[in-house]
Amino acid sequence: MEVSFLGAAKEVGRSAIMLNGRRNYLLDCGLKISGVSEEYPLIEPQDVRRLDGVIISHAHLDHSGYAPALTAKGYRGKYWMTKPTRDLVQLLLSDYLSIEKATHAYTTRDLNYFLKNIQVLEYERRKEEVTFFDSGHILGSAMTLVEDSGHKILYTADLNTRETRLLDGAKKGLQADTLIIESTYGSTADQHLSSKEIYASLVKEVKETLDKNGKVIIPSFAIGRGQEILFTLENYLKSKMLPPTPIYLDGMVKKALRIYRHNAIYLKDEVKRRILTSDDDPFKCEYYTAPERKDRSDVLEQEKCVIVTTSGMLNGGPVLFYLKKLAGDPKNKLILVGYQAQGTRGRQLLEGANEIEIDGEKIEIKLTVTQAKFSAHSDHKELVEFTKSIRGLKRVFVQHGEASKCEEFAQELGRKLKGVEVTAPALGETFQLR
Ligand SMILES: [Zn+2]
Ligand SMILES: [Zn+2]
Repeated sequence: MEVSFLGAAKEVGRSAIMLNGRRNYLLDCGLKISGVSEEYPLIEPQDVRRLDGVIISHAHLDHSGYAPALTAKGYRGKYWMTKPTRDLVQLLLSDYLSIEKATHAYTTRDLNYFLKNIQVLEYERRKEEVTFFDSGHILGSAMTLVEDSGHKILYTADLNTRETRLLDGAKKGLQADTLIIESTYGSTADQHLSSKEIYASLVKEVKETLDKNGKVIIPSFAIGRGQEILFTLENYLKSKMLPPTPIYLDGMVKKALRIYRHNAIYLKDEVKRRILTSDDDPFKCEYYTAPERKDRSDVLEQEKCVIVTTSGMLNGGPVLFYLKKLAGDPKNKLILVGYQAQGTRGRQLLEGANEIEIDGEKIEIKLTVTQAKFSAHSDHKELVEFTKSIRGLKRVFVQHGEASKCEEFAQELGRKLKGVEVTAPALGETFQLR
């Protein structure tokens, strides 16, 4: 069998791994979006024609965003994913096509074909050579195990082994000959705070600004982090550790929340119980609200409020509107959550920029910028523990991380796992598996 890294090799974005064995599978097919530019996986037309199946690990655009383009290139087969991923991907890809008009790799027709050809696969139900396991990253996210001619390959995609407010952590202790693992936080210096510390720091930052009658903007990935943040705020509002304050949900965060609720059976037991068997539904918090006027003036007129909106790295979405209006007032605060990719406005602000450009206009940054270190990815130690839990491991490929993280994590794993060959593949590299 042969494995080729067509994207996300020494980078984050455009995840795409080709497996050529008895059958030919593509594991993920994502976009790399940084600032205004977009990059695609290195898929040749002859590769597309050979494909027997395309597997989508989860709905984030860096794993799913390029998939409909395969249709445009002649792919007529199925796209395999879990049910929640099917619901979320529909929302995310339609939104992607509707906003970033200049740079599309496919049309609405291709998207519709993609949506019609989704094949839902439940966790831990093998079909052909493929089995999905929970990866703990977002609702519906899956690790993929492919078994071909007696060789087992496990692809983690985005991995979170830690239990969160909504989800159980990733399944550990699986058996595989070859592991393909992400390394977003693969450096030894990457050590997440405990969940308790993360929640406490978010609440402290929010409270500080509300006490001064400021507005808090929390830009968030529509899916995953957004729901985690809302649940944390809901919890602290209910226990009165935060003063009663409207929480505005703007953009896709709100729509995604509905999908989370509809897929309650995929959430962890405690949340499932609250939704299905009690009146204490965390998705129906009385403080959640949405802008009522088209120009959002009702939000701006509030004395104080929290705004949770997309996009998480400030690439686009309503957050840019709020920044334009609110960045000039030092009473306000922007709380960045989670990973900020190189080249994004979020990364610039994190690195201390006091000015950013939005729609060709220079925006002076006077509001406070802080970070709450929520993460939907495992940190270094958790990634090592996960790898050690895999039985029968002979070979590891490290990808989905900035170059330095992939290399450092590969070296570290090589040192820790005796007799296991560890590689950080370069973009476009192909390996034979035996
Ligand atoms: Zn992801
Ligand atoms: Zn990813």
